[in-house]
Amino acid sequence: MLGLMQDWPLLLYKIIDHAAQQFGDREVVTRSIEGPIHRTNYREVRDRALRVAQRLEKDGIKLGDRVATLAWNTWRHLEAWYGITGVGAVYHTVNPRLFPEQIAWIVNHAQDRAMLLDLTFVPLMEAVQDKCPSIERYVILTDKAHMPATKLKNAIAYEEWIAEVDGDFAWKDFDENTAAGLCYTSGTTGDPKGVLYSHRSNVLHALQGCMKDTLSVSAQDSILPIVPMFHANAWSLAFSVPLAGAKFVLPGAKLDGASVYELLETEGVTLSAAVPTVWLMLMQHMQANKVELHTLNRVVIGGSACPPSMIEFFEERGVTVNHAWGMTEMSPIGTIGAIKPQLAALKGKDLMAIKAKQGHAIFAVEMKITDDENNRLPWDGVKFGRLKVKGPAIARRYFKREDEEILDEEGFFDTGDVATIDPNGYMQITDRAKDVIKSGGEWISSIDLENLAVGHPDVAEAAVIGVVHPKWDERPLLVIVPKEGKEIDRDAMLKFMDGKIAKWWMPDDVQFVREIPHTATGKINKLKLREEFKDYKLPSA
Ligand code: AMP
Repeated sequence: MLGLMQDWPLLLYKIIDHAAQQFGDREVVTRSIEGPIHRTNYREVRDRALRVAQRLEKDGIKLGDRVATLAWNTWRHLEAWYGITGVGAVYHTVNPRLFPEQIAWIVNHAQDRAMLLDLTFVPLMEAVQDKCPSIERYVILTDKAHMPATKLKNAIAYEEWIAEVDGDFAWKDFDENTAAGLCYTSGTTGDPKGVLYSHRSNVLHALQGCMKDTLSVSAQDSILPIVPMFHANAWSLAFSVPLAGAKFVLPGAKLDGASVYELLETEGVTLSAAVPTVWLMLMQHMQANKVELHTLNRVVIGGSACPPSMIEFFEERGVTVNHAWGMTEMSPIGTIGAIKPQLAALKGKDLMAIKAKQGHAIFAVEMKITDDENNRLPWDGVKFGRLKVKGPAIARRYFKREDEEILDEEGFFDTGDVATIDPNGYMQITDRAKDVIKSGGEWISSIDLENLAVGHPDVAEAAVIGVVHPKWDERPLLVIVPKEGKEIDRDAMLKFMDGKIAKWWMPDDVQFVREIPHTATGKINKLKLREEFKDYKLPSA
């Protein structure tokens, strides 16, 4: 017997309709690519998204077609997502930090029919457009006054493009399992893989994001997602924020410490989300200029491990840190560090030990850790194994690789991360499976060592890699970027770490560099770092 409730498919346009109806005047503020601060609201965003949908239909874009966006977080990019999905097409977020050949590769794989791009990326696409024959038209996300002279095929300014229709249009209806978004994983090994979100998975994930113990998005908030829309679905914020009716603040192309600080203060931001490298820039700006935060009260930090020193920086200033973990394949949020009631009495170091973990699974994310034979391991906070996940907003197959099985026999997806889970359900990432250091048959967590090293007051960034060792297979090498104007002594650094970790975890050596390589999504690029140190020999070897 089936239930007798209404059939109300979970389609993305329902979110922007709700925002426009219930919170029509709520502001959407952007640091525009052209320069000035731009202000609009949900009513106007919806009206213009309808025009995007109508205009796409006029261009022959139909159900299932892919439309690329190569853009920063702006109100136009937001309108584009709702417009594209509102006609049944699929927004394909292209990460501008990829190499041009990688961009051409994913555009060809996705067979994008059109691309909406920011002014910033016009030269980039001019250089690779010959390799992207599927794109029939380039829409530059600007107005006529700022439209550059360009050789991009059928190029038109976005404002002119949407002005060619009257906006008298109805959203298309279809099954909620219809594809809505496409985001390729960074693919440090092999070709990038396309994760294809559906309307249903995005709407469910938007609801998950709003929960108090997830991102706690509320109509009372002013929210600045610094995490780009081209990175892992913007951590659901492009959907959760309008769904809740919060004020939306979008940073455009400027993610440096000074620009982020200015937006946080002038727009009364209460909640923001970004990867640690972005927070590092803000922290450095605040320290150098001796300025403080006045409205911010929560930050979400994820994408890479958040070091305890970063958590302390914010919490000393009355800003609660929620450490989150997830991945593109998970829409992307998997766990979040909200404190459960049984831990509410914890203080000081004990509380920090929990906050530094990646958090507990949110609703609709099932987790398990397993050994290499896929036997479940206990949740004792000690045993670590491969972290596997299951849920309605988690990938079941990759785009155009539908014949490849990526789930185990219980339907779980292997995240490629190695983790522990404690008896309270808090998960802690030890490493990417391929980055963990194997010393004498035991594993050393590079993340733990990095977290410890950046706790040193003169260290800006730290990375740990395994280096070949004749006796132990691999031993840890600590690579450090000192803070500007600071010098650190190797032995003093090791002394700082001594006693805080097991003796056999101590790095065998420390090397100082000016810069540590990062991936297109802002993570430490261990593959590149290992390459840079391929001729390096440990003094202990
Ligand atoms: P992406 O798909 O680019 O978002 O990358 C996902 C991967 O980033 C995960 O599988 C983890 O290896 C890593 N990651 C994300 N969040 C965290 C975190 N809070 N701590 C450690 N690693 C993280």
